[in-house]
Amino acid sequence: IERTLSIIKPDATRRNLTGKINAKFEEAGLRIVAQKRIKLSMGQAGKFYEVHKERPFYGELCEFMASEPVVVQVLEGEGAILKNREVMGATNPADAAEGTIRKEYALSVGENSVHGSDAPETAAQEISFFFSGLELV
Ligand code: ATP
Ligand code: MG
Repeated sequence: IERTLSIIKPDATRRNLTGKINAKFEEAGLRIVAQKRIKLSMGQAGKFYEVHKERPFYGELCEFMASEPVVVQVLEGEGAILKNREVMGATNPADAAEGTIRKEYALSVGENSVHGSDAPETAAQEISFFFSGLELV
């Protein structure tokens, strides 16, 4: 059974959408096995998104992610990584399919409500970035 790292981003926590977004995950068969609300520093946001450091939106992305609290969580299920990305929808809400989280809740390509790991290696790395072994059962 697979696990993936999910983040409910500041635009969504600010609008009190955590429960509605979690309902989408659970309806899709994803189990929330760990979850906490934290506020990232600029340094932590920068480290988390280091793969994007050459992209033009990197500074804006880090400032956004550090602007207000986020909810970080581990989702578990069969094919959880792909399933989560399906439930999230396309990065840009204008391209996101009907019924996806980003279609329903995202404000823009930057403020797009959720993050999800994109591969098994990044999932493992991102889960350990936020959670210790003791927090995962
Ligand atoms: P995530 O990694 O957050 O799950 P993703 O894999 O769909 O999203 P990436 O290409 O990895 O998209 O981009 C990471 C994040 O950077 C996006 O979720 C979005 O918040 C931001 N981003 C991506 N493209 C742009 C852009 N053109 N302008 C502003 N922000 C962007
Ligand atoms: Mg990504």
